[in-house]
Amino acid sequence: MKRKNTWKSNYIPTYSMHQSRQYKLKHPARFFAVLLVLVLCVYALMVIIGKDLDPAETAMGTISTTSEPTVSPTPVPISMAASTPTPTPTTVPTPTPTSIPSPTATPTRAPSPTATPAPSPTQVPAPTAKPQPSSSRVKDVSVCIDPGHGGKYPGTVSPYRDDFYEKDIVLDISLRLKKLLQNAGVSVVMTREADTHLKSDWTEDIWERPKIANEQDATFFVSIHVNALDLSIKGAAACNGTEIFHYGKTHGDFTSKQFAEIMGEAINKVAGTKHNGVTQKDFGVLRLSNMPALLVETAFITNKEDHKRLESDEFRQNMAKGIFNGTMEIFETMGAYQENGKYKIPVTW
Ligand SMILES: [Zn+2]
Repeated sequence: MKRKNTWKSNYIPTYSMHQSRQYKLKHPARFFAVLLVLVLCVYALMVIIGKDLDPAETAMGTISTTSEPTVSPTPVPISMAASTPTPTPTTVPTPTPTSIPSPTATPTRAPSPTATPAPSPTQVPAPTAKPQPSSSRVKDVSVCIDPGHGGKYPGTVSPYRDDFYEKDIVLDISLRLKKLLQNAGVSVVMTREADTHLKSDWTEDIWERPKIANEQDATFFVSIHVNALDLSIKGAAACNGTEIFHYGKTHGDFTSKQFAEIMGEAINKVAGTKHNGVTQKDFGVLRLSNMPALLVETAFITNKEDHKRLESDEFRQNMAKGIFNGTMEIFETMGAYQENGKYKIPVTW
């Protein structure tokens, strides 16, 4: 027991004192130099390995990166990868040096310059939109008169007299209106001037009428008709009067309803029929015409009083006069004025 104690007591101090003193004095500089070299080598290896891994990661575009948890929690990249696969690889290369992210960043920036030319064509419509407000152009006033039906389409037929058809009545009124307008210095376009249909197909025949008005760039379109009711309906024969139809469009600062009301009042002053007001309705001739358009149902061929009116030259002339007055009032509302004997009008649509 005593020997062990003596041995320990003799040995330990001498050894520890001797070793510690010698190690601290001789090798600190070498030790740290070697350590520094090792650290640099490890760092260089990590950099080289990192360079080799990054393209693979970008190619895979998946989860295997070690930097992901540091950038963002794992559940987020999954949803990111599901929605947009491309942004995740661009966020991943953050541990790698600046050389690799920059090439990957430039292709991702490439679409943005391609996107910048895209807004410029979308900005192109702006100059094309500028002429439109300035399209408050002044043009010669012209009216497209559409005598309804014609040819094989007689329109309504008199229940009281043979061979008395709507198509003939409205053509006569229309030709009277044409004279009134032309005498006033207004250009006139007629959809028909004889007992003819425009198209053999009934629907196409209707479509052709506003098409003519549009092609001629008319300022105003008026379609002239005669009304009728099924006399088997109780009280139908008692229905009479004049009605103005419009589509409900807007033309610059005006509405087709305004124009219909002007027309209705003008006819009511001279025609002698009951004024049944204005009605909005989807008639093809109104829907398809580009300019302000109205359809005038002059009177009921199924009502005996109106029937007499429709037979008379006086009524037809008065009706033509009423439509003429209404048309000129509409033009006045739109700002028409006379220049060298012709009516001109600023068009804001
Ligand atoms: Zn008709």
